[in-house]
Amino acid sequence: MSFEAVLLAPGAEPRRLRVAGSDGPGVHHLRDTGDALSISHALGRVHRLVVVGGGVLGLEVAAAAAMRGVDVEVVEARPRVLGRGVPAPIAAWIVALHEQHGVRVRTGAAPDAVQRSPDGAVRGVRLIDGTVLPADAVVVGIGIEPREHLALVAGLACDDGILVDASGRTSHPAVFAAGDAVRMRRTGESYGIRLESFSAAGRQGEVAAHTMLGRDDTFADVPWWWSDQYDATLHSTGVATPDAREVLVGTPEAPLVLSMAGERLVAACGVGHGPEIARPVRAAGRVIAARGRVDVRELRTSGGDPASLTAAFRAAARASV
Ligand code: NAP
Repeated sequence: MSFEAVLLAPGAEPRRLRVAGSDGPGVHHLRDTGDALSISHALGRVHRLVVVGGGVLGLEVAAAAAMRGVDVEVVEARPRVLGRGVPAPIAAWIVALHEQHGVRVRTGAAPDAVQRSPDGAVRGVRLIDGTVLPADAVVVGIGIEPREHLALVAGLACDDGILVDASGRTSHPAVFAAGDAVRMRRTGESYGIRLESFSAAGRQGEVAAHTMLGRDDTFADVPWWWSDQYDATLHSTGVATPDAREVLVGTPEAPLVLSMAGERLVAACGVGHGPEIARPVRAAGRVIAARGRVDVRELRTSGGDPASLTAAFRAAARASV
């Protein structure tokens, strides 16, 4: 097929657990609806589940399994869970919630083998330090890998993702790319990031389509995602730069961590029981979009509940435009 412009939107693959015994029944990876249905079906039959990976995916599965009465242990290789993009106080809040529901969270640990009985059924997970965790099933959530094979064989620039600019242009003028497969360098940024969220993927596709049709468009959205676990909701917006200063506001029941570049707000992440935390985080997103400043001392004296934080962020967003 000949074309004037083509869009690559191949998405990403779940990273596979590659240890002895990991191929076969009872070890589940989760990416699509079929995977979700087979895990849901398995949860009705198992008593003990090991979840490998303490990212959002692993913790959401752990919560769903615990709520169905399954005994769950989460194994995370890093020193803490949610190490990518979730501030430590918010991750600690989530871990405490899991522990209240009986889930054990083991960090700094990784599987070395999946043990099976002679009939092939999963019996346990052996960790690198030799510990054996009894299990009837394993769910793996150890991240994703962008599908860049086609882009690589076509000679496009790739670096852990197809490299695109803020309008979705690859290194070839007729080829565009969007979604989980891309690493996008947004306007004014010196480095590209992979935004692994459906809201970014949808908007990137729209931006690339506009550009392919000759209309100017760039991706300037403030990234945003959320996670529901038990009765709690975690909301996150913005991108914390490596040198950003973290400031904890909110209350013990609904903590919120602001990432500050000087006086400028660049990211916000909060958690709480129920959906209320969404409001201050979305309002913080408007401050970030307006490249606005917030007075941290004032926020700390505002009472810290979601309603007063929302009001403070809305005022800061108004003052910034
Ligand atoms: P993730 O956020 O990358 O977390 C995976 C975690 O597992 C990382 O901390 C990773 O450490 C760790 N890990 C890697 N290899 C391991 C091993 N062998 N043993 C134990 N831990 C290991 O990815 P994910 O949770 O699997 O999520 C997959 C994708 O689904 C992501 O794009 C995520 O954004 C998306 N998702 C989103 C939502 C939501 O928005 N609510 C919910 C579910 C999933 P390293 O980083 O060091 O590799």
